[in-house]
Amino acid sequence: MVRKIIHIDMDAFYASVEQRDNPSYRSLPLVVGGSPTQRGVVAAASYEARRYGIHSAMSSRVAIKKCPSLIFVRPRFEVYRAVSEQIHEVFARYTDLIEPVALDEAYLDVTQNKQNIAYASTIAKLIRGAIFKETGLTASAGISMNKFLAKMASGTNKPNGMTVILPENAEAFVKALPIEKFHGIGKVTAAKMHSLLIKNGADLKQLSQQYLIQHFGKAGEYYYKIARAQDDRPVQANRIRKSIGAETSFAQDLSDRESILLELQEIARTLKQRVDKHQASGRTITLKIKFSDYKQITRSKTLLVAINDLETIELYAVQLLESVDFNSQSIRLLGLSLSNLDNDNNAIPIQLPLFELFPTPNEMS
Ligand SMILES: [Mg+2]
Repeated sequence: MVRKIIHIDMDAFYASVEQRDNPSYRSLPLVVGGSPTQRGVVAAASYEARRYGIHSAMSSRVAIKKCPSLIFVRPRFEVYRAVSEQIHEVFARYTDLIEPVALDEAYLDVTQNKQNIAYASTIAKLIRGAIFKETGLTASAGISMNKFLAKMASGTNKPNGMTVILPENAEAFVKALPIEKFHGIGKVTAAKMHSLLIKNGADLKQLSQQYLIQHFGKAGEYYYKIARAQDDRPVQANRIRKSIGAETSFAQDLSDRESILLELQEIARTLKQRVDKHQASGRTITLKIKFSDYKQITRSKTLLVAINDLETIELYAVQLLESVDFNSQSIRLLGLSLSNLDNDNNAIPIQLPLFELFPTPNEMS
């Protein structure tokens, strides 16, 4: 049976929420995250800012050079999370097979849907309408027979657009697709493909699975399939983000740097033991701090490769600690965790986009 998959993606999500909530920001170049003076990266850019060539993961310094009047807004993750819950409520009117990708992005399997609507495009239209009515924000949708095609489709007609790729048009769509546009093919892989004279889907389809595995490892299997518009990954509801962590609450709040560092090293050792017990490794390391006034913050770093050795865990733990502005507050609790585990069966062997080098917006706070 042919599946019906919808990929929903909110348009310039964080930036649009800020423009919604502050009318004076509307129609102006704005970014969320980063700052005009400090270092740091842009988490999201409004469409007006994008016209200046500004995009997420760009350093603030570069962004302000491109647009000196750029508005920097502090992220308000509680608000983004609340809107995310609202859109999930809309999805749930049609299906329970919802796989969140980020706060503003999800795959929906509507092959069987709660309202017995025949066409996935009808459902997508209703969902986009309800999202706009209930949140004042626009979403784009991609509709097709698998996740890869639905994802590619939602990006085709942004913002506030909708694209359907019918099964009979799928192979032609992939054939014409430039290689750097493929979801799952990052900058590095795209460059390598160009050096092998693979410029688009048609070129990719010419190559044997063996050749692709030889040049790209396990990801070659994925490339072989998507060149044929095939992607049998299911939409996984209740996707659990697995993580392994360790934390300590202190009998007496810590305030001197030396004891904080010592405790952090002890927690790193405990984390290492637990990671070993699960024979896991992970790409994201998160530091959690609860201050004496019970205010809690987390800082994360996502790496290109999974780590599990004590030295590296400690190195990044200390780096994260050093990125925190304490304002001479003392600490009640310290924690460390590792996520994006490589035993996570959701992981697909894909080239990671460059911004994975930086803390992802939904992990900052
Ligand atoms: Mg989005």
